[in-house]
Amino acid sequence: MDKCIFCKIRDREIPKEFTYEDDDIMVFPDINPVKPVHLLIISKKHYADLSEVRDETLLAKLMLKTREMAKENDLDKNGYRVLINGGGAQAIMHLHIHLFGPMDQTTLL
Ligand code: AMP
Ligand code: ZN
Repeated sequence: MDKCIFCKIRDREIPKEFTYEDDDIMVFPDINPVKPVHLLIISKKHYADLSEVRDETLLAKLMLKTREMAKENDLDKNGYRVLINGGGAQAIMHLHIHLFGPMDQTTLL
């Protein structure tokens, strides 16, 4: 099966500057940012979406890193949104969390 684009990024087949990386997760800027800060926090292991993941430690790690990135980019004081598309609503079928901001209070959609 062909590798997805995020697996190619993980394997350095597509050049990318990483904001953070460890054995399980990585963080890099979204190529098409919707806000001045727009990061993708991804699992290194390929999961199509949230519903496939059974590893609760990994889920906690992804969320804790998202929180840390919000703080590191001063979004904790300036507004941010955390978003996960799934179930076919995502363009890239490899689990990732969007973190973007700064932003004001907005309606959900
Ligand atoms: P989603 O609809 O949640 O699957 O969003 C996928 C996101 O990946 C979009 O916001 C894209 O801009 C972003 N994206 C696609 N290709 C790349 C890439 N090569 N590097 C960084 N971000 C990407
Ligand atoms: Zn993948």
